[in-house]
Amino acid sequence: MSHDLVNRLLTGLPAEAVLTDPDVTASYANDMASFCPAGAPAAVVMPRTVEQVQHVMRTATELRVPVVPQGARTGLSGGANATDGCIVLSLVRMDRILEINPVDRIAVVEPGVVNAALSRAVGEHGLYYPPDPSSWEQCTIGGNIGTASGGLCCVKYGVTAEYVLGLDVVLADGRLMSTGRRTAKGVAGYDLTRLFVGSEGSLGIVVRAVLALKPQPPRQLVLAAEFASAAAACDAVCRIMEGGHVPSLLELMDRTTVKAVNDMAHMGLPETTEALLLAAFDTPDPAPDLAAVGALCEAAGATQVVPAEDTAESELLLQARRLSLTALEAVRGVTMIDDVCVPRSRLGDMLDGVERIAEKHRLTIGVVAHAGDGNTHPTVCFDANDEDESRRARESFDAIMALGLELGGTITGEHGVGVLKKEWLAREIGPVGVELQRGIKQVFDPLGILNPGKLF
Ligand SMILES: Cc1cc2nc3c(=O)[nH]c(=O)nc-3n(C[C@H](O)[C@H](O)[C@H](O)COP(=O)(O)OP(=O)(O)OC[C@H]3O[C@@H](n4cnc5c(N)ncnc54)[C@H](O)[C@@H]3O)c2cc1C
Repeated sequence: MSHDLVNRLLTGLPAEAVLTDPDVTASYANDMASFCPAGAPAAVVMPRTVEQVQHVMRTATELRVPVVPQGARTGLSGGANATDGCIVLSLVRMDRILEINPVDRIAVVEPGVVNAALSRAVGEHGLYYPPDPSSWEQCTIGGNIGTASGGLCCVKYGVTAEYVLGLDVVLADGRLMSTGRRTAKGVAGYDLTRLFVGSEGSLGIVVRAVLALKPQPPRQLVLAAEFASAAAACDAVCRIMEGGHVPSLLELMDRTTVKAVNDMAHMGLPETTEALLLAAFDTPDPAPDLAAVGALCEAAGATQVVPAEDTAESELLLQARRLSLTALEAVRGVTMIDDVCVPRSRLGDMLDGVERIAEKHRLTIGVVAHAGDGNTHPTVCFDANDEDESRRARESFDAIMALGLELGGTITGEHGVGVLKKEWLAREIGPVGVELQRGIKQVFDPLGILNPGKLF
């Protein structure tokens, strides 16, 4: 079977694009999530053209072989994990920026373009592609679309879904379909573009994307506020949002996270505080906004408010924030990263609940949050070699999702469902929701070969 599969693939692909050495293919089995099973791929295919992707999907349909699309595999839900005998379809070699159009304010890109590379390229035209996951130096636009990624600046500019105007998608049977538009407006038919965003490779392979751009804003200036409790920092977030401010970033790091970042990168962040809030403005004159937000932080009980002196110092603070998840990994060797998003007004209850869960399960759980969005990443730190600790880690990870739902939130704000949260999706959307979503999957993928075992 595998031999036949490889021979068929090679009829439409150069040999260097089809990897079959088991040591090599095994290295494509996982994304970065813990506790997610992965199978052994039959082959890893690395196409460079749309026609090659179509050839892969036609072959997979004929031979009934599952296909797992992959970007940079920085995903945190097992969404890009291989299944036994599958074709891993890695889109990283399709990495061309095809067009940057300042009049239409769009970029047209292939799926393997790295997020930060696109940001830099459009920046040269005075333009801005806002969605900026902390993994932006690695993750791809295809993966960002697959997971509907967020990032640091989403509190002002919104998430990936708001920037995807149109897509070219190779369907399960190899047909090519275009959705959406490259115009500023357009409402022709169902919004299939939006349906593909966040579909985790389960409905089709994104081979080209039309992305909306904004004019490049001025460099942002960051303010750091220290708090004696997470509750006080959350209160400050509520006051800032209630006060009508529009920060370009509003991020929270708890004491555990701050210490982890300092331990890893010696950033000199203040370790005596319980929570550090970073707020930024990218307006032409951010000083009045920063002063107003600083005053609100003090009213909420901030022990110290320190505006960055310049953009270089601001960038250093952002770098510290971006390192958070990687730094927390070093605490006990492995992490499970929750992604619960709650209404901002419940952020304090969320952090309070996470603290209780950590105590109950006797674990270190560092919290880093896109606080302005209510999107928390409680990060369970554990030693994977310790069976009991691993069990407690999984239990606390689940308890955090249950808490999020209780507070009117969602189990995933930006990382997706993948393998990790399958049972939790059903709990969140209910049996009717699951039935209809399965029906949609059936329309696009009647043979069930596209990224099977994810979402449901
Ligand atoms: C240190 C760190 C920090 C992170 N910070 C953030 C953050 O701030 N915000 C955030 O949202 N996420 C964050 N993430 C998670 C991750 O980076 C994002 O989910 C990212 O969008 C994944 O992109 P990728 O290229 O690695 O995709 P992959 O992990 O390879 O794939 C992700 C999903 O998309 C599907 N897919 C990939 N390419 C295609 C395609 N061309 N067509 C169809 N489906 C496709 C895959 O099947 C999979 O389901 C972080 C991860 C790490 C490790």
